[in-house]
Amino acid sequence: MAIERTLSIIKPDAVAKNVIGKIYSRFETNGLKVIAAKLAWLSPQEAGAFYAVHQERPFFKDLVSFMISGPVMIQVLEGESAIAKNRELMGATDPKKAEPGTIRADFAESIDANAVHGSDGEDTAKNEIAFFFPAMAVYSGR
Ligand code: ADP
Ligand code: MG
Repeated sequence: MAIERTLSIIKPDAVAKNVIGKIYSRFETNGLKVIAAKLAWLSPQEAGAFYAVHQERPFFKDLVSFMISGPVMIQVLEGESAIAKNRELMGATDPKKAEPGTIRADFAESIDANAVHGSDGEDTAKNEIAFFFPAMAVYSGR
């Protein structure tokens, strides 16, 4: 077990539903601390670059369109096993398959509009944090 950092995004559907606070509350009550945050409206270029790993997937175009359909709330979460913990709180990618009580089960409508993003491993966490908060590594040495 170790203190980790992970990148979380509250997607346009959940921001539009006005549940940023409810989702933050899930993080806070489960030992994850918000250590950096910004509300942003992504450009097609930013959303495409962020999801570049999915470039060849059939849903890539829809994913980018959805991610630029409204503002998103982007945060770095820190805590014990933060990467896995956040994935656990999020629930499965398809909200219909997500465990009851998870963020996606409670706030998401579909596999496209699924409320949240969370890094899926140590390398992606590092890269995704650097993508949205390039100064963090410089200031914190992590
Ligand atoms: P996760 O967000 O759970 O890590 P992935 O990394 O596999 O899931 O996919 C990234 C995002 O792409 C998902 O959150 C979802 O918004 C979208 N996505 C994934 N699979 C599909 C699919 N089969 N159809 C439509 N959208 C999808
Ligand atoms: Mg993923």
